[in-house]
Amino acid sequence: MTERRYNAFVDKLREQYGSRLQKLVVDAGFCCPNRDGTLARGGCTYCDNKAFHPSYSTPDKSVSQQLAEGLDFHRRRYPRAEKYLAYFQPYSNTFAPLKRLKELYEEALSFPGVVGLAIGTRPDCLDEEKLDYLASLKASGKVVLLEIGIESCYDSTLEHINRRHSWAQAVEAVEAAASRGLAPCAHFIFGLPGESREMMLEGASKINCLPLGSVKFHQLQIVRGTPMEREFAAHPERFVTWSLPEYIDFFVDFLERLRPDLAVERFAGEVPPRFVNSTPWGLVRNVDLLRMLEKRLEERDTYQGAAL
Ligand code: SF4
Repeated sequence: MTERRYNAFVDKLREQYGSRLQKLVVDAGFCCPNRDGTLARGGCTYCDNKAFHPSYSTPDKSVSQQLAEGLDFHRRRYPRAEKYLAYFQPYSNTFAPLKRLKELYEEALSFPGVVGLAIGTRPDCLDEEKLDYLASLKASGKVVLLEIGIESCYDSTLEHINRRHSWAQAVEAVEAAASRGLAPCAHFIFGLPGESREMMLEGASKINCLPLGSVKFHQLQIVRGTPMEREFAAHPERFVTWSLPEYIDFFVDFLERLRPDLAVERFAGEVPPRFVNSTPWGLVRNVDLLRMLEKRLEERDTYQGAAL
């Protein structure tokens, strides 16, 4: 833990690697089993991947070209960053044969300044062979951040939003990754339909039992054109919604219940306004969100794990 009142992943990375690691998004053209017909075609009801990645990363460009353009973009914003991670973000980035994964990942790792990979995927797209390979990359000195999208601690929600995997599968994937020293990150969404504030807070105790290294959270944002948008219009009563101060207070309550050694990579985030049907918080930058969280923790004189 640093002097902050919560365990910030950015501090942990800086301690481990001596400097900020800037992520460069790569769209390597993966799909996901919930979209290509392996499990389903419709996808998760909130999903529109276009909303979650920058314009420089498009799959018609090679991995190296995307990294070069991403580097150019970020160098102007963060001139002091020296080390980069290739962030395989859109869709499910382990959903391909291992041979293909190796080609893509190794192209990224050979790019100057790239010291490792961040890989977003689903719990059911990680088999032993892939995990062994990722563990071998890590053992060779590369940074490997494996982000497993779990989204909810409740099977009823996972079913309702058409995730097509269960909580038990998520636990199994996290345990398999952790047993190989990968210290996985899990991603969750707050505000999914059918979940009360209390259910979300109780989720902390389920998350605390997982052998995770870090966690990442987002508030639900209703993306235009998704089935979730139609559900929200027809049944707003199924959704918990927050003003920004309410969400900050909710997250402070959640943090109090969260294991202190779990590093928090993100607690909220906004997709570009053109993709969402409303921007109830206005346009808040991440740095302002973090400032507000830290201020509220101070005001309430509390910290991560205080309620455990
Ligand atoms: S959220 Fe992920 S798993 Fe769900 S449909 Fe979109 S890409 Fe597939």
